Amino acid sequence: MIVSGAGPSGSKCAEVIAGAGYKVALIEKNTGWRKPCGGGVGARILKYYPQLKKLNLPKKQKVIMYSAQHYRMFADYEGYKDYSLVMDRLELDNLMRDIAVEKGAELLDNTLSLDFLHEGSTKCGIQAKSPEGKQEYRGKIMVIADGMSSKLAPKSGLRGKWKPDEIAMAKCAILEGESDLDPNAIYIYFFPYLGYGWIFPIDSQRFNIGAGTFNEANLTHNLNEVYTTFLNNAEIQKFLTSSNYKKIWQGSYPLPCNGILEKSLYGDNVMIIGDAAGYTTPISGEGIHASVVSGQIAGETAVQALEKEDYSKKTLRDYKKHRNIKKIIRNFKMKKAMFPFFFDDKGRNIDKMFKIAEEDEDFRIQVANLFLFNASPSKEFMARLRGS
Ligand SMILES: Cc1cc2nc3c(=O)[nH]c(=O)nc-3n(C[C@H](O)[C@H](O)[C@H](O)COP(=O)(O)OP(=O)(O)OC[C@H]3O[C@@H](n4cnc5c(N)ncnc54)[C@H](O)[C@@H]3O)c2cc1C
Repeated sequence: MIVSGAGPSGSKCAEVIAGAGYKVALIEKNTGWRKPCGGGVGARILKYYPQLKKLNLPKKQKVIMYSAQHYRMFADYEGYKDYSLVMDRLELDNLMRDIAVEKGAELLDNTLSLDFLHEGSTKCGIQAKSPEGKQEYRGKIMVIADGMSSKLAPKSGLRGKWKPDEIAMAKCAILEGESDLDPNAIYIYFFPYLGYGWIFPIDSQRFNIGAGTFNEANLTHNLNEVYTTFLNNAEIQKFLTSSNYKKIWQGSYPLPCNGILEKSLYGDNVMIIGDAAGYTTPISGEGIHASVVSGQIAGETAVQALEKEDYSKKTLRDYKKHRNIKKIIRNFKMKKAMFPFFFDDKGRNIDKMFKIAEEDEDFRIQVANLFLFNASPSKEFMARLRGS
């Protein structure tokens, strides 16, 4: 088995396959690269990574959201089961990789996947490049888990290249210094166009701050300007009390935002998982959890295929048919459908939603769940919102 990309999806997939006793190569371009990311993830990740509990990460039980019209919604999760965790992505990725390696996956670092190897028309491996030169790795199934920059995904024949208005673009940084941010809260600011900004405190000194645009807003807004305007926004500056923050890191990167490419998930000897297949939630951009789920299910499907010695798309189809994958596909479709409504009229529907939430705790928790924990809003919720 070969997994290309040791991010959350690839590491989980390799862990599952190695855990079942099969040989798996986990090809990674650079384990020292910090993937641009807010690093915010719902506590449901602990089901897949109970090892994170040992880190005693601060529980983010407060959610502060601002509409584009500066209306503030505050939701307190004290007493509810959900909360968020925030991590430095480099630490999170390396923890996930280490777990895969402990299970027996062979991590090939500094190795860039370039293309498929073929025997006739059958894909039988991956051609890669390492500092030692060109390498060839042979495998029964190839899992494409190398994210938005995947070279293999468009070469798989399963999907085309991303178009600029089909994705989101985001820029973020980890800053260090004194601030008035609540370390137990996360902050989200919606823009009057398809986009939003965030501040996710990591601990009492460090926070992740970023901003992004979606779909057609990528073509009408310059990401650097969006980010700088966000940082200088008066609402943000209220919290950033120091005049001299240490920039630990900064980066920008694209992410999928239009739902899962459900027609492109598998073929003979190949599966695509994680961001490379669109596993990032439309509206919120949260993708770590769904990518890990895709890695888990693809790993289990690969193990079944290895046991049956059948690597055809007929067997690999079980990955897409899995109830958890179907659930994510449905949820993302619903989020995508709500997208234009939320951002219509310069984001005023979000503003209305926050005003209703102010009066009603149940509604308020549904709003926060919708954005942060992939929950589906109830019919009553939508009726109330549309009727307001
Ligand atoms: C700016 C930004 C902020 C985000 N914030 C959040 C957030 O707060 N919470 C959240 O849940 N999600 C967030 N996301 C989405 C999240 O980062 C992704 O959904 C998630 O990382 C997807 O995991 P993955 O394993 O599929 O891909 P990735 O994490 O992108 O991992 C792919 C891996 O493949 C490697 N690779 C790439 N090309 C090759 C190649 N040719 N050969 C070998 N290796 C290769 C890369 O080095 C990388 O390690 C954010 C995304 C962006 C861009």
